[in-house]
Amino acid sequence: MPKNRLPDTRLRGQSRYVAAKARHLKPETTDRHPASGIRRPAASIRPSTPGKRPFIVPIFLPHGGCPHRCIFCNQVPITGRPHGEIDLERIRSQIERFLAYKKKKRKPVQISFYGGNFLGLKTGGIKQLLDLATEFVKQGRIDSIRFSTRPDTISPKTVEIFKSYCVKTIELGVQSMDDRVLALAGRGHSAAATAQAVHLLRAHELEIGLQMMVGLPGDSEASSLITAQKIAALQPDFVRIYPTIVVKNSRLARWYQNGTYTPLSLEQAVNRVKTLYLFFYGHHIKVIRMGLQASADLELNQTILAGPYHPAFGHMVYSAVFFDAALKAISASKTLADTITIRVNPSSISKMRGLNNLNIKMLKNRYHFKAINILPDDSLAAGELRIGKRE
Ligand code: SF4
Repeated sequence: MPKNRLPDTRLRGQSRYVAAKARHLKPETTDRHPASGIRRPAASIRPSTPGKRPFIVPIFLPHGGCPHRCIFCNQVPITGRPHGEIDLERIRSQIERFLAYKKKKRKPVQISFYGGNFLGLKTGGIKQLLDLATEFVKQGRIDSIRFSTRPDTISPKTVEIFKSYCVKTIELGVQSMDDRVLALAGRGHSAAATAQAVHLLRAHELEIGLQMMVGLPGDSEASSLITAQKIAALQPDFVRIYPTIVVKNSRLARWYQNGTYTPLSLEQAVNRVKTLYLFFYGHHIKVIRMGLQASADLELNQTILAGPYHPAFGHMVYSAVFFDAALKAISASKTLADTITIRVNPSSISKMRGLNNLNIKMLKNRYHFKAINILPDDSLAAGELRIGKRE
């Protein structure tokens, strides 16, 4: 290797996916989670998503079945759908429209009922919706059903309602595992309700997703981490992480306007979610979403009054993870050239660059590189990067 050149530095994560390949390599550094003591690779980046992601046909039922409004929530602008009765014919044509977008071979397909508290609907309404979905299942156009609901709606009685249907996945709005945060958010259930719900669903072999929020009133970095630990202990199949944003016509909006609540900044939210993402990654739990789904409705008419909303929030978190990994690799190298090459899997190029090339600009400023070339490399997994000499 020529002198004054940056040596090749290959970083590998510790997921099951890469661990076998990495066994002979020592990670550059490792740190321990401050609360759990779980060892986490310093440079872990998400590997390629294993398994097949379902094609989702989303049906939004804004506030359908909600016992009350949680302080942060106003589903009408978030889902872009009016609050109203279940209109089966409208839902049927919506399903048809979505299925028309689907590529022929794309499988599996799930109908998903979102935006409310599915099992809080009247039993008749739940059955009408499940019956409608089942028509499509019988036609072979839908493989299974999915819905989101509050943890306190899961009971032997409600499981009885849906267990004869083709329900495969249930997402629970956990939000926090801190009872104080739950009370401030006006949730009306405890952390224990979430644990009980997961145990009950597990007995029925359902796929379980848990949704958590960061930045709620009373929440802190430490309580978010404790929530993540408690969620990890429940071993969900996947999680979603949402930063709290202040939505118009919510109780939180009033708290924000009268100065009682201050949301996280975008930078704080990205950093906090990054930590949680790495924590779940280290526990082999898939994070399938970070940040609200971008939509025109969300960005129009001041729907969002304040808070860390960004249409590419998840991308910003991945970019922050890649930035940290590059930083560690560069810092660990003994010799530096003025131009370096960072190789990543082709699917990770934009994550390595960061939004508007932010990662590149920050690395250049920090190390006074003249140029940083980001090159695609098929031989690397989505969770790897390699830093090398100029090419
Ligand atoms: S967070 Fe869930 S339960 Fe609470 S108001 Fe919103 S949709 Fe309803």
